[in-house]
Amino acid sequence: MDYLPLFFKLSAQACLIVGGGEVAVRKTETLRQAGGNVTVVAPQLAQPLRELHSQGHIVWLEKPFAPSDVDGFKLVVSATSEHSVNVQVFQAAQARNIPVNVVDCPELCSFIFPAIIDRSPIVAAISSGGASPVLAKLLRVKLETLIPPEYAALARLAQRFRQTVKQAIVNADLRRRFWQDTLQGEVAELALAGREDEAAHRLVQSLQEIDAKKTGMVFLVGAGPGDPDLLTLRALRLMQEADVVVYDRLVSPDIMRLVRKDAEKIYVGKQNSHHTLPQSQINRLLADIAHAGRRVVRLKGGDPFIFGRGGEEIETLMAEGIHFQVVPGITAASGCAAYAGIPLTHRDYAQSCAFVTGHLKDGTIDLEWERLAVPKQTLVIYMGLQGLGQICAGLIRHGCPASLPAALIQQGTTRHQRVLTGTLADLPDKVAQADSKAPSLVIVGEVVKLHEKLAWFGQRQNA
Ligand code: SAH
Repeated sequence: MDYLPLFFKLSAQACLIVGGGEVAVRKTETLRQAGGNVTVVAPQLAQPLRELHSQGHIVWLEKPFAPSDVDGFKLVVSATSEHSVNVQVFQAAQARNIPVNVVDCPELCSFIFPAIIDRSPIVAAISSGGASPVLAKLLRVKLETLIPPEYAALARLAQRFRQTVKQAIVNADLRRRFWQDTLQGEVAELALAGREDEAAHRLVQSLQEIDAKKTGMVFLVGAGPGDPDLLTLRALRLMQEADVVVYDRLVSPDIMRLVRKDAEKIYVGKQNSHHTLPQSQINRLLADIAHAGRRVVRLKGGDPFIFGRGGEEIETLMAEGIHFQVVPGITAASGCAAYAGIPLTHRDYAQSCAFVTGHLKDGTIDLEWERLAVPKQTLVIYMGLQGLGQICAGLIRHGCPASLPAALIQQGTTRHQRVLTGTLADLPDKVAQADSKAPSLVIVGEVVKLHEKLAWFGQRQNA
């Protein structure tokens, strides 16, 4: 982050604009909207500035710029087309530690103007750090549609009741949850429809009902295979509303960065064959947090119900009468297959697809080989890296051709994704020679041949 976005309290502060042309007109407007007292120094003024001056809204110093002009100002903007003047303004302001912006000249700025969405008291600011003001403006247009002007009314309502709610709900988590529900529910709909009095009435009512809602809740959320862009909208929203997030190793740091900043984050470090916290303790932990009235997101890699022990976690909740929801995620099989260009089914090659675990128990693998080693079926093997040799040998022993294509996809969907392809006969050796990294997924079947043609994502590395 090259610039720290801050909201500057400008009301009644003295601001200087150097230059009197079109650009100065725009900057004057912006500064005046934020309540700044604007002085313009310029030999001439464009018509709109003349009018503001004649109405007494701005002060005009009718002269060329001199460095001492910046004395006493809290903010300086240079909007002239003369580079030498811009440099003088910048130096004069810098020498006096006054924030300065030279329009369209990032190297002569100690601050920059963002693209602004003004729904006061809600204000959103977007900046590209000077890299592309046009892109920042395009993004502003997108966000403007997400934040319609009526949000101003909703924000005013929230402001009006802020203290009342603070006194009525002392617990900060519960209070935040009250606001989350209020600002998205019926009250919000009324305020956004311009029915502010009814909205206020409904808000007071729900404040009185609050005692009935003091139980926590658990959301068992699938975080997808790694690329944060593959999160569902619901997963993202719950992550941003959670009081507590309980997560494990498969949830990437890029995804954890999207969790609400002040949510408590508890790592339970579950790994392929070794669990930092035993499953029973994770189940207990979730139930205890919910009993304390907090909203927990249990974030799991991929989909919580595919080799994720999601079922066990909610059994405990169910038994203790705790409310919960399950949010599906993109499982590693779909994510890795898509990003490796390997369709899991294909009219010519595979009419079915089986997801199996390759997890070793006491060093051996126990699979229903007869059902797996059949033609025209794709196999996706989770947790299959360690037992890869045994899996390939087992499939060959039960009738699969040794030449059947197979692939190992490491860290699928992330920027570190790596795909190794081969056959049942040679993939284990190829993997052993490469530097293999978890998590890795194995795909076996004729469809793997398509990778050659369809790979589209990142670096393709065929061993
Ligand atoms: N619930 C998860 C699976 C958990 S089991 C899901 O639905 O995806 C853990 C196994 O998932 C790993 O051993 C690996 O085989 C697979 N896996 C998860 N994420 C992966 C990724 N990004 N790339 C490759 N394999 C992955």
